[in-house]
Amino acid sequence: MAAQVVRVGNVEIVGLIDLVFPLDYAILFPGRDVQAIMAFQDVYPQSYTPDGRYQTYASCYVVRSGGKTVLVDTGLGPNVPSFLGGGRGRLLEELSSNGISPEDVDVVVCTHLHLDHTGWNAREEGGVRGPTFPRARYYLPRADWEHFTAPERIDGAAGRSNLLPLQEAGVMELFSGEVTLAEGVTTLPTPGHTPGHSSILISSQGERALIAGDLVNHPLQIEKVDWSSAFDTDPAQAAETRRRILDFVESEGLRVAFGHLPPPNMGRLIRLEGRRVLRAL
Ligand SMILES: [Zn+2]
Repeated sequence: MAAQVVRVGNVEIVGLIDLVFPLDYAILFPGRDVQAIMAFQDVYPQSYTPDGRYQTYASCYVVRSGGKTVLVDTGLGPNVPSFLGGGRGRLLEELSSNGISPEDVDVVVCTHLHLDHTGWNAREEGGVRGPTFPRARYYLPRADWEHFTAPERIDGAAGRSNLLPLQEAGVMELFSGEVTLAEGVTTLPTPGHTPGHSSILISSQGERALIAGDLVNHPLQIEKVDWSSAFDTDPAQAAETRRRILDFVESEGLRVAFGHLPPPNMGRLIRLEGRRVLRAL
């Protein structure tokens, strides 16, 4: 797939899709009125399958700044769970078709530690499971590490395959708050979807953009900020963070990208007849 490339000052952002898969709305928004969900089909047609399910895009981003290559999220990986349709993510092929090899990546940062954002963190080669990106330091939110590697959650979060190998290889940096990953590229805490959920703020030459992970799971939440999804660890906190951050993005005119929206991955929040929508601008 042709990559989406956006320039923010001196920083280049390449949007890549690891996998596209359908998800039942009853799983994403249990108990919500189906008509209210389908009412957004005209606004975001690419996010609906012909049979009325959520067309979900597992997105990753390459951010290049100051000679460093930062990979934001690693998709579903080589062994996609059957409840998400099975199969194999395409991140490595997508990187390759953009001239990026695993050895080129200096930093991997996960917005959070759900299995659809950590899938290519590690892979098996010659019977040994190790980091997919051999030169990279891996930045993982500390609060998520503590949450998802707890004994009662580690299997559900694919922690043994996607998280523990990084610790064993000694390539992991657990972070909290705002940390710099490359020139003009920093983390920004946006908790609620998970305890340590973080967005990536890009700031260069007076321009700014935000890669906001699963702050929004479905584009309708850009208007319906109170609609937390079933995957939000703390629905009330997720809604409060969503409202605050989206208001900031809209009022400051930042470009914004999310973890599960269709290409073009990056856009701006604008008003159409008073309703806030995401548009590629
Ligand atoms: Zn996700």
